[in-house]
Amino acid sequence: MVRYDGDSSPILVAGGGIGGLITAFALARLGFAVRVFEQAPEFREVGAGIQLGPNIFRAVDKIGLKQALLADAWQPGALEMRCALSGRQVTRVPLDQRFTYDPQQNIFFVNFERFSVRSRGEIRAIVNAVENKLTSLGHRVYAIVNYDNFFILPELLDEYSAAVRGLVDRFYSGVSRYTTSGFLRIKLGEALEKRGVAPHIFESAAEAQSDLRTFERDTPE
Ligand SMILES: Cc1cc2nc3c(=O)[nH]c(=O)nc-3n(C[C@H](O)[C@H](O)[C@H](O)COP(=O)(O)OP(=O)(O)OC[C@H]3O[C@@H](n4cnc5c(N)ncnc54)[C@H](O)[C@@H]3O)c2cc1C
Repeated sequence: MVRYDGDSSPILVAGGGIGGLITAFALARLGFAVRVFEQAPEFREVGAGIQLGPNIFRAVDKIGLKQALLADAWQPGALEMRCALSGRQVTRVPLDQRFTYDPQQNIFFVNFERFSVRSRGEIRAIVNAVENKLTSLGHRVYAIVNYDNFFILPELLDEYSAAVRGLVDRFYSGVSRYTTSGFLRIKLGEALEKRGVAPHIFESAAEAQSDLRTFERDTPE
């Protein structure tokens, strides 16, 4: 890593957009003298806004800017897709409310009740939402997933299972899933098994909770 070597000549940064300002901040943090040159007469909001995904938050966390960014950021309550011609709402994914983390029990509750996955975009949105909730925790959580009245297009099952596999590998110490639908238990179970994810899906929340207790009992501290 580059470090300040005692030279006090400033580093000149041309442009005070998000790239220039974050670069200047990171350099200043390492002890470098920095000057930012911005050609615009004033700093002001331009356009609708900049969408910042999980990757940028990992980067700004390293330079101590994450909390300041989050404090000023607007977080969308749902992902909406609309028809470009009529503006008609095609789908709405109020995802954030479906994911709750309980720090006391270290359980991540995922509520997919009556949720439909009809596009690849929705799979990506799920992955993003889980990343947003769990990346900053820095430790694994036990997940309980409610699949009651969940629907997924059959042609998306494999891709969905691959995404689940990725989340299991990165974030979960264990997962209990449940749904009253026997059909979904079989179909989703098969797709998950193909991706090397434990296929068993319980019938009720109570069974899933008791699976968690078994897991806790059998897992050494
Ligand atoms: C119309 C529009 C809509 C967009 N919508 C979105 C969106 O919805 N979501 C999203 O994530 N991204 C969006 N973007 C992209 C996003 O704005 C850019 O990716 C981001 O701002 C790039 O940041 P930057 O710091 O690299 O560059 P910029 O923000 O362009 O910053 C460069 C700065 O350098 C200054 N500069 C240039 N030359 C000089 C010079 N010679 N001397 C001094 N200063 C100089 C400029 O005035 C400017 O302030 C949009 C972009 C546009 C144009």
